[in-house]
This record gives sequence, structure tokens and C-alpha cells, in this order.
Amino acid sequence: MTDPRSRIPSVDALLKAEPVVQVVEQFGRRRTVEALRSAIEEIRGLIGGAGSGPEVEEWKAVVEDANLYADAARDRLEDADRPSLRGVVNATGVVLHTNLGRAPLPRAAVRAMQDAAASYSNLEFDLGQGVRGSRYVHCVDLLTELTGAEDALVVNNAAGGLVLALNTLAPGRGVAVSRGELVEIGGGFRIPEVLERAGARLVEVGSTNRTRVEDYREAIEANVPHAILKVHRSNFRITGFTEETSLEELVALGKEHDVPVVHDLGSGLLVPAESLGLPAEPLASTSLKQGADLVVVSGDKLMGATQAGVIVGRADMIAALKKNPLCRALRVDKVTLAGLEATLQLYRDPAAAVEEIPTLAMLSATPDALRARADALAVAATELGIPVEVVPSRGAVGGGTFPGVELDGWALRVTTESGASRWMRALREADRPVIGRVVDEAVLLDVRTVLPDDESALLEGLARAWRAEEGGA
Ligand SMILES: *Cc1c(COP(=O)(O)O)cnc(C)c1O
Repeated sequence: MTDPRSRIPSVDALLKAEPVVQVVEQFGRRRTVEALRSAIEEIRGLIGGAGSGPEVEEWKAVVEDANLYADAARDRLEDADRPSLRGVVNATGVVLHTNLGRAPLPRAAVRAMQDAAASYSNLEFDLGQGVRGSRYVHCVDLLTELTGAEDALVVNNAAGGLVLALNTLAPGRGVAVSRGELVEIGGGFRIPEVLERAGARLVEVGSTNRTRVEDYREAIEANVPHAILKVHRSNFRITGFTEETSLEELVALGKEHDVPVVHDLGSGLLVPAESLGLPAEPLASTSLKQGADLVVVSGDKLMGATQAGVIVGRADMIAALKKNPLCRALRVDKVTLAGLEATLQLYRDPAAAVEEIPTLAMLSATPDALRARADALAVAATELGIPVEVVPSRGAVGGGTFPGVELDGWALRVTTESGASRWMRALREADRPVIGRVVDEAVLLDVRTVLPDDESALLEGLARAWRAEEGGA
């Protein structure tokens, strides 16, 4: 019995074979040679691992076939060329999925970002005067118009905006925060640690479930904090025996003692939550009307724009923030600014904003419309021979907003013999990976978060997973 390994072709011989010639044409000779070498190594190992069992006979039949090595080399090279950061189909039903990149952007924003990325711009150039300008002028008119603020500043993200605000207003000084608001926003980002890193000192006020305005007053009189921070509890709820001091009460107290009030609001919502079918949620404009000195929000949560930290409020404070050297470290880039500006522009017509900003469109999609989309996708899947059914599904807003709020929608449900986790894996291995969720041992693909342009990719992913199931079964 000959060892099939002795019949593995040489790299030189393979390079002359037609299937390998095609790989060379696509990837070049140098990379193909490298890929062939490691493919040969791997195949040699596999044959060795087969020992003298029946598989050896199978290896004997194919070991001289150049297609075997060409395919293995091509797979390797395609893998290596696949970008690390890739588009995926979000079929989780979680609209602002932080792990999946939060807000997909409106077309107008994508166009503006493309232009800003590919060409020069007036990022820091005053076109009127022909002299050096400031990147911080962009978006300001839109933000003040949309929130009623005196002034605005855009930085890298909201967490950075908060650090900048606290570091500017209370360096080395106390900041009063309710014990009920010493929260973790996500990713290990905790308010007490943020305060400390911002160079401020935490002055804890009240208790976890109840904090009254008198508690703040006592803290102010005893510790002379330099700022009051109110953190919107966006990602959890406290229920039962609770009491929270309202922003208005804090503002009144702040005025009495000449202490500014910073509101970390998070969500960045610019249209009333009710207009999206969601429970009431404070807007930056409401906070400012109630007298907050600075409000910090995120660009890529409910604003549906680029990752950014938007700070709106008093002009003198915004001016101080811009002078802080930390502002340079947190500065926003031109592509982000272009996308943010184009998205903000859509809000000038709120009805159009809800249609054109994907985050808002997904949030406000009606169960009937989602049902119709799910039905159409199910028909297409069935035509491909894939067994799916349409079932009710509960999505979520995500991004640490609207805790406990469920979005009623519809999903494709796949029950499989090979098990949900194998299907989920096969879906993730598609060219455009499909991310769903597992409910009661079945794969659920919620259509709310599947972008219209991603429907064909969803079907391709399903077809691929189905072939893998049939092949594996
Ligand atoms: C999400 C959130 C932040 C952080 O926003 P990023 O833009 O992700 O940095 C800060 N505060 C609150 C209340 C939030 O919900």
C-alpha cells in the first residue's frame, strides 16, 4: 500500500495546472505559491491523520487532482482578503445594536461622507474671509435650531463629551450626583470612574432609590460642589419606593448657589418619542428649556446619525469647553461631521426625517408593514426550498435606551434538525453575515432591522445555511 502523501504534486507541477493558473491570474504568483504551500501542508496533515482507515482510499482518489489544491489556495486567499470590519445583516430586531455598529445612516449622510472623505473640504477654512477657520463651526446652526440651544459643540462621542464637560467645569472640584444615577452606561463605562478620570471629585447624594432636592442642597452646602450632574437612566429602570429630583428643581437649586447643571441625556432623540410610537423620553430641547446649562447626547443613538458626542447649551460654557486641551484629544473628524450635518438637515422636515433616517424608520415601522415584509421574504425563501414560517417577534430599541420597551414585529422562524446554534453559525459564515437570535431552540430573523437593501443577502444567507444543513444531514 502506497502512502497517498508520496503522490502529492509539487508546487511547480501545480503551477502549470489549469485550475491553479486561474488562481495565479486572480491573486498573483507570489501569494498563490504561499497559499499552495500551506494548503499542501494542511492536506498532508489530514492524510496523516486518516491513518490507514477507509478515508485513505478516498484520499488516494483525489490526491493528485490539481482542483483540490487550487480550491484550498483560493479559499485561503479569499479569507485573507476579506476585511476585518464588514457589513452584516442585522436580523436581531434590536435597532440600535451597539455590537453591530448602532445607527445605519441615511443616504444623504452617506453621500456627504463620501465626498468629505474623497476630497478636500473647508473643514478648518473660512470660505468668506479666505483665512483659517474652525472645525467646530460646522453643525452648530443646525444643532442650535433643532434644540433651541445658545451654542453647540461636537466631539468624538458622548462619553468623551461628558469627560470634557466635567473636566472643564469642575477640575479638581466636586460634582454632585445622585446615588441612583451612579450607573454603568455600557462597556465598563461607569459614571464614578468617568468623573474621577475627568479630574473631578464625586459628591454622592441621596440613596439608590430616593434622592430629594434637600439632599442636593445639603451636599452643596457641606461640600461646595462645582457642578451638578444629572444622568438620564437610559438603560435601566428603578421601580417601587422611588423618588427622583426633577431637572427643574436642580436648576433652581443650581441658580441659588451659582452651580451649573450638566444633563447627561444619552439618547439624542430630536423628534418626540411618541411620534415614533415609543413612550415619552426627554429631548435635549426639553432639558434646555428646563434650564440645564449643558446637555450631552450621542450622535449614533436615537439621533440616527454618526458616532459623535453632541454638547448643547450655554455659549460661555461651550466656549470654555473648546479652549480645554482635552477637546483636541476628543476632536471629531471631517467624515463624521459631514454625515452628522446631512442627517441633521433632514430633521428640518420631521416627517421626512422619520422616513429617511433608517433608525427612525425602523422604530416607527408598523406591525402590519413588517408582517407584509416578512410574508414576502417567506414566499421567496419557500421558493428556494427553505422551510420558514412567519411568527410574531419582539424587538428592542437598543443602545441602552428604552429599557423594557418591546417592539412588536414579525420574524422568519427556521426550525432545523441540526439545531439552532449550527444554523446561527452557518448564517454568520455567509458572504454577508446574517445575525439573528435564538428563541425556543429556533432561529428567529426579525425583519424590522433588516435594511431593504439587505433582503437579498438575508435570502442568500438562508440558502447557504440550508445547503449546509442538507449537506451535513
Ligand atoms: C450611551 C450613553 C452615553 C455614551 O454615549 P456614547 O456616544 O456611546 O459615548 C452617555 N450617557 C448616557 C446616559 C448614555 O445613554
